[in-house]
Amino acid sequence: MAYNAILTKLNHYFDTNTTRNISWRQQQLQAIKQLVLENEQDFLNALQEDLAKPTLEAWLTEVSYVANDVDHVCKHLNNWSKPRKVSTPLVVQPGKSFIKPEPQGTVLIIGAWNYPLQLVLAPLIAVIAAGNCAIIKPSELAPAVSTLIAKLVPKYLDNNAISVVEGGVEETTELLTLPFNHIMYTGNGQVARIVMSAAAKHLTPVTLELGGKSPVYIDKSADITITAQRIAWGKWLNAGQTCIAPDYLLVSKELVEPLSIALKAQIKAMFGDEPKNSKSYGRVVNQRHCQRIANYFTDGEIVAGGESDIESCYIAPTIMINPSLDSALMTDEIFGAILPIVTIESFDKAKEFVKQRGKPLSAYIFSRDTQQVEQWINEISAGNQCINDVIMFNAVPDLPFGGTGPSGMGQYSGKAGFDNFSHLKSVLKRPFLKDLPVRFAPYSKLKLKLLRFIR
Ligand code: NAD
Repeated sequence: MAYNAILTKLNHYFDTNTTRNISWRQQQLQAIKQLVLENEQDFLNALQEDLAKPTLEAWLTEVSYVANDVDHVCKHLNNWSKPRKVSTPLVVQPGKSFIKPEPQGTVLIIGAWNYPLQLVLAPLIAVIAAGNCAIIKPSELAPAVSTLIAKLVPKYLDNNAISVVEGGVEETTELLTLPFNHIMYTGNGQVARIVMSAAAKHLTPVTLELGGKSPVYIDKSADITITAQRIAWGKWLNAGQTCIAPDYLLVSKELVEPLSIALKAQIKAMFGDEPKNSKSYGRVVNQRHCQRIANYFTDGEIVAGGESDIESCYIAPTIMINPSLDSALMTDEIFGAILPIVTIESFDKAKEFVKQRGKPLSAYIFSRDTQQVEQWINEISAGNQCINDVIMFNAVPDLPFGGTGPSGMGQYSGKAGFDNFSHLKSVLKRPFLKDLPVRFAPYSKLKLKLLRFIR
């Protein structure tokens, strides 16, 4: 079916008001959970095929993530969708004021390849919870997952409300010409600009989930072993292809060596002497990205790893020190298994370093110094923060997820997602009781005086 015909069909269905029904939403959300749980093995296989994702990682960050998200949203949906009372001032009394969340219409969801299941189904959960229809466009760079989603969505979900379109640039470009009611895009900043310009033609609101360089400051007061373990997990999860992975570390001179040693020990503990043979270590999505990451090896001094095998899309967990600050390693988002350690003179210099580089998606700090931590939270603007950990804020369903400035706009996860895909409509309800005539012409000094008094 032509894309505009799909959109017309979904819009007609939206107009029947079926998707506004809370029980329809609950039923569709449960169907998403069933879709992932009943086909868990197929998804684990597809994630293995696309990214060699270790089973535990694939289950934790994709399959169970989606199932838990459904549970959380279903539990709170009735509450979130209720009218939200606000107080009504004297001048409009008697009256009642409330905010009524209403669905927007049909939403286009464009996914990225690195968490190819989570990044289309978690937005879909929020979109359906808010009572919308959706067209999902999974990433063509994770073709096994894309095919599986295209096969299963029509089997489990209401086809009148939800459709899948597979494809790459050409198909997405065509979809983007259509007048959606909201577009949700996950991916890089360059394409985000294309999405936003296309959306501007129809004044369509956008949610952009982007990336960037997420810094980590480590203070000498931090527990180095625990810090190294948490960072090593977050960095080399999905072979470094996580939008909120630590991109680079900022540490004082005396900490560089002990931290490198502690990180190397974690690489060995997690992936053994030969990470290439480890079942706990994934692969890069394709050879083009693998070559892009391998090119960074010349931008600093390698102290661990540094091996690559482009043919099998392998990049070893790598630590680099003294990176050249104007090299691609330190100006581009790495989005791969290389962890540069930058030497910094002081905490103040570290803050300055981060502030000079555009608002990141995440900004992490490891420190026992409570004043330092407070300053980091207060002064560093970022989409999200973890103190003494990385990534794990994403496991808290009530914390909104999203970037700021170049790392994105709009948020989802839990209530934030529900609100993001709703229009929060203001309603004032009044009875037919005679008004005080103060606001009606003819105006007079007395009316003005009264208005000033009751304002
Ligand atoms: P990608 O190549 O899968 O592209 C994303 C989507 O954009 C795909 O569906 C693709 O078909 C579409 N697309 C690509 N080029 C297009 C074009 N010219 N016109 C229209 N559509 C186009 O993913 P990617 O961009 O390589 O993703 C990696 C980036 O995404 C990183 O920067 C990462 O940090 C970011 N990311 C962010 C989040 C988040 O939630 N904030 C999550 C994952 C990834």
